[in-house]
Parts: sequence; C-alpha cells; structure tokens
Amino acid sequence: MSIEAQLFELREFARKENLEIVETFQESRSAKTPGREVFNKMMEKIESMENVGILAWHPDRLARNSVDGGRIIYLVDQKKITSLRFSTFWFEPTPQGLFMLQVAFGQSKYYSDNLTQNVKRGMRQKVRRGEWLTKAPFGYVNNPKTRNIEPHPTYSKIIVRAFLEYAKKSHTLVSLADFLALHGVTTSKGTPLGKASIKRMLTNRAYLGFVKHHEEWFDGSFAPIISPKLFEAVQKVLATRERPRKTKTGHNFPFVGLFRCEECESMITAQWATGKCGGKYRYYRCTKKKGKCGQGYLSEEALVAEIKERLQTISLSDENTDYMLKRVEEFEQEENHSSQSRVQNLSSKVKASEEKLDKLVSVYLDGDIPKSVYIKKKDELMRESLALKEKRKDFEHSGNNWVEPLREWILDTKQANFLSSSADFHEISSFVKKVGTNPTVRDKSARFGAPVPSEFVASRRALGKVLNCDPTGNRTPIPSLKSLCPNR
Ligand SMILES: [Zn+2]
Repeated sequence: MSIEAQLFELREFARKENLEIVETFQESRSAKTPGREVFNKMMEKIESMENVGILAWHPDRLARNSVDGGRIIYLVDQKKITSLRFSTFWFEPTPQGLFMLQVAFGQSKYYSDNLTQNVKRGMRQKVRRGEWLTKAPFGYVNNPKTRNIEPHPTYSKIIVRAFLEYAKKSHTLVSLADFLALHGVTTSKGTPLGKASIKRMLTNRAYLGFVKHHEEWFDGSFAPIISPKLFEAVQKVLATRERPRKTKTGHNFPFVGLFRCEECESMITAQWATGKCGGKYRYYRCTKKKGKCGQGYLSEEALVAEIKERLQTISLSDENTDYMLKRVEEFEQEENHSSQSRVQNLSSKVKASEEKLDKLVSVYLDGDIPKSVYIKKKDELMRESLALKEKRKDFEHSGNNWVEPLREWILDTKQANFLSSSADFHEISSFVKKVGTNPTVRDKSARFGAPVPSEFVASRRALGKVLNCDPTGNRTPIPSLKSLCPNR
C-alpha cells in the first residue's frame, strides 16, 4: 500500500477507535538502518510528553532495526508510551504484549535481512536457470516446451556470416544491412535494416549465450550463436569505427589508405587521370600533407607490379607449405598431451573470475556501488569469464596456442604465392593490409615488411591475450623455421 493509502486507513482506524491524532509523522526513509530523521524527531517529542500512544501501520514501519525497536520498548517500559496501536498488528502494553512487540520488531529485522537474502537468491536462481523467458531475439526461436530459446536453423547462420563479414572489415554497417537484405533479413516493410539495428545486432550479448534481465546480463542456458573470439573481434572493429572518419570518395581505389610516402610520411592517395591516348587510368601519389616532398606519382599497374614482386619474396611454393603444414600437424600431436596442466590453470582462473562476479553482486546488493558501475563491471567480468572458458575449450581440443598462428602464417605465405599472380587488386590490398608491416612508397618502388614466423606467432599471441585474456605464463617454445622446412 502507498503511504497515502496507509494514512487514510489509519485515520479511519483512529476515528472508529476514538483515538485523537496529535501529530502525524511520515518517514520515507527505510526503517532498515537507524538514524532516521523523522523517527528521531518523533521519539524526542514523545520523551517530552506524558501518556501518549503511537498508531502505526505495522511494527515494521516503526522499526526494522534493533536500535529503534529498543528505543520504543524502553519508552513503553518507562510508561511514556502508554498505548501502541497498529492497524495490522494487535498490541497491549503488558509484559506479554512487550514480548510480542519485541518479536515483531525482531521479525521485521529478520524480514528485511531475509528480503536481501531472497533477492540474492532470486538473482542467483535466475543466473542458474539462464532461461530466456521473453520473445526470442532475432536469430533465435522460442521453444515453449523447454521455456527457453534455441538458434533459428537459418537465421543463426546468417548472423554468424554477418559477424564474420564485419570482423573482416569487408562491410560497413550500411553495406552489411544490404548484405543481410539479400539474405532476406529486412524490416517489416522489406527495406534493409537501419544502422542502429545492425549495431544492436553486432553488440547483442544474447548471441554469446547471455540472458538479459532488467538491463543486466546473466549466463544463459541456451546455445550461443557467436564465439567469444568472433564477438570481441567485431567489438574491436566497431570501436575503431566509432570515431566518424572522412569517408573516401566513391572511387574505391584498392590501395588508398595503405601506403605512406617514405620521404615525408604523408599518406599515399589515388586519383583518375586521362592518358595521352584518351584512356582513363588510376595513379597513386603522396598527399604531401606534411609539407615539402619531392615524390612523383606512379600508376596503379606499376604499384601492383611492385607489390607482387614483394609478395614473391615472402611466398613459399605449395610444395614447401604443404610440407610445413604436415610438420605443424606432427608438432600439434606431440603438444597435445602436455595441455592438461594448462587446462587446470585455466579452470582456476575461471573459478576466480566467477568468485569476483559473485562478490560484485554482493557489493552491489549491499548498496556499496551504483548500478551503472555494477552493470559495466559485470559486463566486463562476464565477457572475461566466457573468454576464459572458450580458451579452456580450445586447450582441451588443441592443447597449445602457437599451432594455429603458425599454421596461419604458413597459409599466408601460400596465399602470397597465389596473389603474386592474381588480378584481384582488392584482395591483394587486403592481404598486404593483413600481413604487411609499415608499407611505404619511394621513388616509384613499394616496400612493406612481412613478419617471420616467430614474430607472427608472438603478435598473434599478443592479440590472443587481448581477446582471450590468455593467462598462461609458461608456453612451449615455438619451433624454429629450420626445423619446419630445411629449404629455407
Ligand atoms: Zn611525400
């Protein structure tokens, strides 16, 4: 009942019982902790008077802590309070009545202690059950039998594709909306989804298998659609694109934004030009934004020829790469049996993370931190814990963290070999973007570094550390390139 309704009922009660109301006190602060202002004022007043009574809704309105309760009982003992009436609780100032009152105050305290416990228990239970009780988010369907959701057979796959495309940076939010529309994912009017909807989709933690309950995410008991690794990769791309950047002209030059001028360190840009015979061609030149620079331009063909030459130097023949891939597989098998201790290590990290989360919930329920901080911290912890679990799963399967990067490096050299004779400039560009370090142009020649395997694996591990909170300190050494392939 609202305070107004309680007051109304109490006035009615007083009228029926012929009680005269001297003064009305309204306390909005919870009676849980001592030190309520209005309550103290009321008690002081009573102490200065004789033969008064208190009319209250329920003992728990008067006192829900033992200090306030004790003060009232003391005044009853002192005969300052000669009558205590409650509309929902009967009391007489006799020893039995006092005893009952003490019980009532005690019960109120118990009730409020219990309430906190119940809220905690309720939350834990929800966390434990992890069911999705409302309408399924896009990509899931409700299953009335299990009272839970499950991935939609086709839409969930489309979502995975969308995440992959976005992580590869091959789409903007708008072009991703078009991509989804092609696959039948549209608004109810049949138009492509808006940018905000796409962003909501790419950040929806339900796809990680989390369940939302009032602004807050819990571990769900349904199947996730997106792996934590992919989810975090997408968040990273979203974060880098958060700052609005000047969009490039609609020309879509494949190598714009990739190279810097070696002389003045300005970016290399591109433009169309008309040749002597009237044909149009594209050329690249220094933007000269950092001041004086004596560099000329070079045609796209010349640039591509330069890049391909560089690709050839970092590529390996298929014969070599196939041999190396086979060796890696052997290494992998040797490695697998030593993974057990690392899995255990990860398990304890998972446990620690979960304990942290538990503590956070307690701290929040005790009112020690504001909700906004709690929500943010909780999101971090949940994602961390999930990433750790995923990492543990990876270990259980493969047992090490250098095999995949090494394999990726070998496949890159294989791809470099393939691209050195390809005509797909965009593919060449995105490959250089991926493997090339510090791409520069000077005197019509293009350069970029390519990592040797140990560097590559190390950088991938560093990336893994960011993505997966890789906790293992002791790692097996990466095999040397010689041991992989004597020819190189
Ligand atoms: Zn320059």
